[in-house]
Amino acid sequence: MAGNTKNDVMEKIVSLAKRKGFVFQSSEIYGGLNGCYDYGPLGVELLRNIKEAWWKEMTLREDVEGIDASILMHAKTWEASGHVENFTDPMVDCKKCKSRYRVDILAEQISKKNLGKIVKTIAPALFESGKENSDTLSVIAITDLKDKTIEQFTSELDKKAVDEKYLLSVLNYALVTPGLATLTLTEIVCPNCGTKGEFTEARQFNLMFKTFIGPLEESSNTIFIRPETAQGIYLNFLNVKESARQKLPFGIAQIGKAFRNEINTKNFLFRTREFEQMEMQFFVKPGDDENWFDYWKGVRYNWFIKYGMKKERMNSFFPINLRITQKLQLILSMSFRSAGEKLKVFITELTLI
Ligand SMILES: [Zn+2]
Repeated sequence: MAGNTKNDVMEKIVSLAKRKGFVFQSSEIYGGLNGCYDYGPLGVELLRNIKEAWWKEMTLREDVEGIDASILMHAKTWEASGHVENFTDPMVDCKKCKSRYRVDILAEQISKKNLGKIVKTIAPALFESGKENSDTLSVIAITDLKDKTIEQFTSELDKKAVDEKYLLSVLNYALVTPGLATLTLTEIVCPNCGTKGEFTEARQFNLMFKTFIGPLEESSNTIFIRPETAQGIYLNFLNVKESARQKLPFGIAQIGKAFRNEINTKNFLFRTREFEQMEMQFFVKPGDDENWFDYWKGVRYNWFIKYGMKKERMNSFFPINLRITQKLQLILSMSFRSAGEKLKVFITELTLI
């Protein structure tokens, strides 16, 4: 089985990493803290070497400045950025055994056979929902259903001619759509206790760790531990620009810890609750973004190749973390607005690793 082989490889890597002193489970003598890891004698050297190589490459140039922003930031930062409202995962609880699941993880645990069965059971409601939501849900797989009749779709399901990934995306949609969610959850079995259909409706859980600043634990003192480093760059944009006498285009780089209260951590170091980000935001004038994007794409690609990444592996790896966003105008104007300043900054940001 392909799945087993993949797990075996992961287990071997984890055990090797521990034996050789690269990575240990955090708080191991107390049974370990899920999703947290400690770097050992060799691991910390490797980590520092990677950070050092990245930092030198990114900041030893005229047009990039470095910063090291505080992990604790004003609570308004995360309101302005939308994280308080939107940085959430939909979760359900099993009413019997109280296990909590992120809905996409719950869906992943259903066998392909049962996945087809469940989607067939909810198909009539799915088609109704697809009709109602077809305009707003253009990116979701369900819009494909517009071109089919329900008979066609169910016959494809009977013939097992529907791709598993597609079934999963349909189920994920169903699990968070009002009206469909309850119906879908009644068909699902709890992976922990085996009870069928005894789940609470999906609720949104924020992924930010909360704490209090000062001695009083009251809501006016609530702050969040940063879930990403980027906001420290945005909030210091003008400070850096003015103090370093930079003009567009220029970038700001930072390496630092970020924290996300992931409900399901998985795959060793790939999804953890505490992690380090190396990030450079490059700010350009509107219209220059495509050229700069191509430039940085080349620079970053060559950096990975220089340090031994195989070209054939870059295709699947590379596009993930090199992206261009136009959201900075929005983020900056939101941040400044909530800081009571009237500033319009028309720039574009490239996020690079
Ligand atoms: Zn259960």
